[in-house]
Amino acid sequence: NDVLIEVKNLKKHFNVGPKAVLKAVDDVSFDIYKGETLGLVGESGCGKTTCGRTVMGLYEATGGDVLFNKTINVHKLNKKEKKDFARKSQIIFQDPYASLNPRMTVGDIIGEGIDIHNIHRGEKRTKRIFELLDLVGLNKEHASRFPHEFSGGQRQRIGIARALAIEPEFIVCDEPISALDVSIQAQVVNLLIKLQRKFGLTYLFIAHDLSMVKHISDRVGVMYLGKLAELASSDELYSNPLHPYTQALLSAIPIPDPKVERTKERIELKGEIPSPINPVEGCRFASRCGYVMEKCKERTPELLEVKKGHFVACHLVNKENT
Ligand code: SF4
Repeated sequence: NDVLIEVKNLKKHFNVGPKAVLKAVDDVSFDIYKGETLGLVGESGCGKTTCGRTVMGLYEATGGDVLFNKTINVHKLNKKEKKDFARKSQIIFQDPYASLNPRMTVGDIIGEGIDIHNIHRGEKRTKRIFELLDLVGLNKEHASRFPHEFSGGQRQRIGIARALAIEPEFIVCDEPISALDVSIQAQVVNLLIKLQRKFGLTYLFIAHDLSMVKHISDRVGVMYLGKLAELASSDELYSNPLHPYTQALLSAIPIPDPKVERTKERIELKGEIPSPINPVEGCRFASRCGYVMEKCKERTPELLEVKKGHFVACHLVNKENT
């Protein structure tokens, strides 16, 4: 598969006080292939949203590189190049209630990107807006209405139409279903899958819910406290999780059919995710890991490929190599 985005040693740190550095993303590397969905999961505060925003250039990186199509270094662009690049990547936000301007009509919300990038004017612009509404399962009568007249699921459809308006190649879906009713979640995910196939889109799909991520993602990365703990194809990750953190997350997913017995015991995750401010040396999961060893506290485990396409950052798994 062709690589669309190469993320290399990406860092996003925030200075939050004297000598206090919040390491939201700390030396993270991965590729995103053209036309795939890469899921990025982890508890809140693990850095997944910051990672998505830094990958698409919404946040300036503290270090590292993001290469788009091998030629564009997202964090080394001048103003004009930044504007051009803004057409290639878009974001769908978590909260469909907060992310749409309540004073703008739906038509103008969707048309904003078309205007900024001067893509269509007049009748062509209107026609394009109607086309986009149709693509996401709404209709042209909706263009003159305001966001408050719509349900959460419909608002997320408007957010998707807005993201598609400028024909991007890459979309960061930042927890796009977390705020929606369970009954609506699958509809939005299915719409995203349908649009991906139609337009050959590439997604970075951020979520804390591992069950929905499996349905949409080709590969999944698990983040913990600013670092990638594990990365593998969906099938591999769900059937053969190797990192103790992934194992704990997966064991917590409810099994829909009560008659089906869980083959593995539920692993309790003790305590909260620690603060990402001035994180300790060594493995960041050490304070909650049931397998912690002396060296886990001394050396940070590297993300290594343990079998083709399956990467893990854990001293227990990578015994020979670390
Ligand atoms: Fe647990 Fe050590 Fe592996 Fe970290 S490196 S997940 S503390 S066994």
